[in-house]
Amino acid sequence: MPKVRIQDDLFNYVNGEWIETAVIPDDKPTTGGFANLAIEVEENLMKDFKEMDESNSFPNNYLKRAIDVYRAINNVKRRNKEGIKPALKYLSKFQKINNISQFNRNLKDLVLCNFSLPFRVYCDADMKDTSKHCISVQGPDTILPDTTYYKEEMAGQKAALIGLWSNMAQAVLAKTKLTPEEQAEYLQDTLKFDEIIATLVKSSEEWSEYTKAYNPKKVRKVCSLLKPVKFKKLLLDLIGEVPETIIVAEPRFLQGFATLFNEENFLLYKHWAYVRELVDLTKFLSEDLREIGGSYRRALSGIAKMTDVTKFAYQMSSALFSEPVGLYYGEKYFGEEAKKDIIEMVKEIIAKYKERVANSPVLSKETQEKAILKLNKMVIKMGYPDKVDEIYDKFVFDPNDSVLNIAIAITKARIEDSYAHFKEVPDRGKWAMPGHLVNACYNPTCNDITFPAAILQPPFYSIKQSRSENLGGIGAVIGHEISHAFDNNGANCDENGNLNNWWTKEDHKKFKQSTKAMIKQFDGIELPWGKVNGNLIVSENIADNGGMAVTLNIMKDTPNANYEEYFINWARIWCIKAKPEYQALLLNVDVHAPAILRANMQPRNFPEWYETFNVTSKDKMYIAPTKRIVVW
Ligand SMILES: [Zn+2]
Repeated sequence: MPKVRIQDDLFNYVNGEWIETAVIPDDKPTTGGFANLAIEVEENLMKDFKEMDESNSFPNNYLKRAIDVYRAINNVKRRNKEGIKPALKYLSKFQKINNISQFNRNLKDLVLCNFSLPFRVYCDADMKDTSKHCISVQGPDTILPDTTYYKEEMAGQKAALIGLWSNMAQAVLAKTKLTPEEQAEYLQDTLKFDEIIATLVKSSEEWSEYTKAYNPKKVRKVCSLLKPVKFKKLLLDLIGEVPETIIVAEPRFLQGFATLFNEENFLLYKHWAYVRELVDLTKFLSEDLREIGGSYRRALSGIAKMTDVTKFAYQMSSALFSEPVGLYYGEKYFGEEAKKDIIEMVKEIIAKYKERVANSPVLSKETQEKAILKLNKMVIKMGYPDKVDEIYDKFVFDPNDSVLNIAIAITKARIEDSYAHFKEVPDRGKWAMPGHLVNACYNPTCNDITFPAAILQPPFYSIKQSRSENLGGIGAVIGHEISHAFDNNGANCDENGNLNNWWTKEDHKKFKQSTKAMIKQFDGIELPWGKVNGNLIVSENIADNGGMAVTLNIMKDTPNANYEEYFINWARIWCIKAKPEYQALLLNVDVHAPAILRANMQPRNFPEWYETFNVTSKDKMYIAPTKRIVVW
């Protein structure tokens, strides 16, 4: 294949050759960039877990208990001998519930186990006043990854996926004591119930505007819409009081709730919940059930093979004990020195961001001041936390119990704890991501940014890379996370993370115009695996745009800045080879643009791109100056 020109396709110029020969691991949907770093983290920690297991010595009690879980999962002989039994035993209590009043009597327990319910309830920081907690209500998940799959134009794909899912569910049901007739009925009812859910809940695109999930409603109103659920009693059971308002994340769902859950539909619900739980629990059961139960998820992402036992044991235990494992990882593999270096870089980027806002030719003084206040108050969480969250002390379980019982004990402790803090001020010291995760995030209710240790590695960051490379890598990612404070969602929240309109009317109008332009820049782009939805990915694109704008600005002040290195590393961090099934899935559910577009779209909004590589109107990565967008 002839090498592409950088002016036509930055992504493939940088990554194309590697992608051609790269092999996607059998148990993963992707390779390259983020995925390779994640595999490296996994390999290191798996080696450490193995050593801890064999030597029976642990850096702390949290890791000891993580290894307890690891050992329980690795005990294949026992899991295989138990087969489906732990799940049937767990579900037997639910099977005795035969009507709505019995359902109501058991509701608290079901909520605490995170059981499949016709609605979901949870305790979170109140978006309008983040110094308080609130109770929110939303709908359950659909079987297909997104409600758009239920639309008529997706009928072919829907039928194929429902077919895959049904085969999987049927194979799991065949292991129960239900008769073949009952199995068929359970399956049919499950699909019927799921169809109703799909008409009521939000699509990924609707969820992507997360500030629209904040709809305070009088508790009386919510109780009446949730009838026949005894919601008031549930609130008393969970938090010991009935708050005046409840946050309704999905108003359409609540309005239609009566069509989903009623005496007539109770059996539909019951069968749906039973099947969904059973399928979900297979990961804690025997190897054959784990294989069957994971088949649908693997097919959705094009994953060829089930994860092997030891890796799965590591993945599951490190997910349940994510913060202690992340802290261990950070201390061992990252260390204090790199932490200090990166914090300096973040401070520099925030300072430059403030300068850009203060010099903005379009924003009024008033709006500028509010945006700068938000930047001044932004909290930086870098690498890993100083100490483990107290919740992990509450994970009490018998290491000799079945994997399923251990997992449920931990889930219960986690959910119970979230309600126990209802009356307290939400803890802003909590970390949104563990240290061993290759990712980064902005939390709008805390106005903080989190960079786990695992992402602070090449190609994102290294003391050995040039400053220009680091700016095109981690620098642009840091700028991206900061920009989430000012994307189409974050811009609705103030310096304390409260939903609060701090814009002047005129400025907000201009901001909305650039949001619209960003939607248009991406919307409808055709890729081999489908069409891009500009609305779904707009906030992430605004963040990428902001990240590039601020780091290119810093490049200007950098002696010997090397723009080639900057843009090439920008493309390198998005290097990915993925299964087509996975690409198609992401196009429907992921709020981020496909990697090739992240690499290739934003540079063309900036003059530096054109100057560095002499890009002209004859090149594919050219857009006319009037079409270039810089949001922040
Ligand atoms: Zn983002």
